Amino acid sequence: MKKNTFYITTAIDYVNAEPHIGHAYQKIIADAISRWNKLNGKEVFFVTGTDEHGKKVAESARVAGKKSKEWVDFVSDKFKEAWKSLDIDYDRFIRTTDKDHEKTVNDFTELVNKSGDIYKGKYEGIYCIRCETYYTEKDLINGECTFHRGIKLENVKEETYFFKLSKYEKFLLELYKKHPEFILPESRRNEVINRVKEGLRDLSITRGSLDWGIPFKLDKKHVLYVWFEALISYYTATREKGREKFWPADIHLLGRDNTWFHAVIWPAMLKSAGIDLPRTVFNHGFLTFNGQKISKSLGNSISVTELVKKYGADTMRYFVCRQFPLAEGNDGDFSESSLVKRNNTELADKLGNLVSRVSALAEKYGIESTKSKTLNFDELDKIKKYLDNFELDKTLNELFSYVDRCNEYVQEKKPWESGDKKVLYELIVAIKNLSILLSPFIPSTSEKIAKHFHFKIDLKEINKAYKVQPVKKSEILFKKIEFHEELQKQNINKSSEGIVKMSELKFDDWQNVDLRVGKILEVEDLKESEKLYKLKIDLGTDHRTLVAGIKKHYTIKELKGNKFIFLANLEPRKIMGIKSEAMILAASSGDKLSLVKPDRDAEVGSRLG
Ligand SMILES: [Zn+2]
Repeated sequence: MKKNTFYITTAIDYVNAEPHIGHAYQKIIADAISRWNKLNGKEVFFVTGTDEHGKKVAESARVAGKKSKEWVDFVSDKFKEAWKSLDIDYDRFIRTTDKDHEKTVNDFTELVNKSGDIYKGKYEGIYCIRCETYYTEKDLINGECTFHRGIKLENVKEETYFFKLSKYEKFLLELYKKHPEFILPESRRNEVINRVKEGLRDLSITRGSLDWGIPFKLDKKHVLYVWFEALISYYTATREKGREKFWPADIHLLGRDNTWFHAVIWPAMLKSAGIDLPRTVFNHGFLTFNGQKISKSLGNSISVTELVKKYGADTMRYFVCRQFPLAEGNDGDFSESSLVKRNNTELADKLGNLVSRVSALAEKYGIESTKSKTLNFDELDKIKKYLDNFELDKTLNELFSYVDRCNEYVQEKKPWESGDKKVLYELIVAIKNLSILLSPFIPSTSEKIAKHFHFKIDLKEINKAYKVQPVKKSEILFKKIEFHEELQKQNINKSSEGIVKMSELKFDDWQNVDLRVGKILEVEDLKESEKLYKLKIDLGTDHRTLVAGIKKHYTIKELKGNKFIFLANLEPRKIMGIKSEAMILAASSGDKLSLVKPDRDAEVGSRLG
């Protein structure tokens, strides 16, 4: 019997910073897939959440001057707010600090231990705190993490407990062979297979030097490694009463930086615990924002709720699903100008116009039922196939060629001249079809149309008759957005010159200004320039390079080894070919310049506020 449940999870996000468009992309895709399965009559369980333990989170709490728990409560609320603003209709928001999660983790650890897969040993190696991942030299490029170039890596040497990952090498290779759909897209699968073939090392799963985590059941002096317990959250969510039937998951949706954990470590952990494996681990590409890498530390992370305020949830949802060929797993660019173009030409001109024109004419002339099938939608099977293959872009393309067909029909039949009630009726049936099929992508617009014309969003309604009734002209569904590319470019240039125009700062904006005490480690005199020094600074969390025009005012000796105040999340820019990743604060009047120092001794990394 084919099962009628569908369980989809997103990655649970670290609460070291607020959600940005990269997080939003994944949640939108997951929500569209989840809604599509619901529409198809499946019983769906959709889980998202936050990953709240580990060193990185503890560190960002410290920088924010908050207790870890206070901090995770604050940031996880920001994630919930963002998903609400985007109409992400999840069934459970799991937090790894939830009580039931801790219990499931303990049960799970016990099962793994019973299989004889946990042992005590010594770990010595390299740790990237941003990834919360252990690496070996060969994983690095020029000694740097491939996902976090320029970030200082830690050398870790400690007593720890290991999970016997190496034992599962053969099992995993067989799994990938027997179930190629386990890792999608294919390119990611090949990467994983090649790496696994090189051999697996056992995984350190506890840390003795950290207290922000779930206590390790077998030795309370340790806490569990954040990844080991976070993965278990997918299983935790199905331990609730009545939800057991959803395990194993149908899809774990995640970004390509998380592939290793989900495609290698997670199935080995499940096998060890004797629990069924998920069907598919889908690894999507990364987004840039207006051509720039999105990252909190790089300072150009964009607030999701601000973008929703600016463009509306449905326009954003439509754009990311339509713009990026998800199934291929490639990276893409969230460009505001492309978003505006699609909003104006596709949503406003094509779909919006169709609905407002047809409703206005139906109000004027009325409608009359007909059996004509000219505008029937016959591509449902094609669409089902696309969606099963993660081809959201092709789905929307198909649906919008249907919108085109309808608009052409209007042009051809000219109901404004003929007042043909049957033509208008056919068009309303087509609008009904469209609203139903578009509902996973633009749910609130579909709901609005359904309410206006009085029909139900239900797949069984496709091509079905429409009850003849008086129709009123609808409101405008999508407003055209004005977008001045030149203006936007100017704004980018302005901010990259570090010129800040004074205007009233909202409290939320102020919280996004990351001013910190940093220490100058090295000063290099850039001989080609009269003004510039190249500085290497320690900001507590990482080391950065910056170029500062202070040569005329300060000697190297006055700078080196001293603490000053830095703006840590300024958009990086290239100066004389050097990437400058922060700004040193200075007061200037006339040709005098004075750097800003903490008045008393303050720890490196202390945040101002
Ligand atoms: Zn990293």
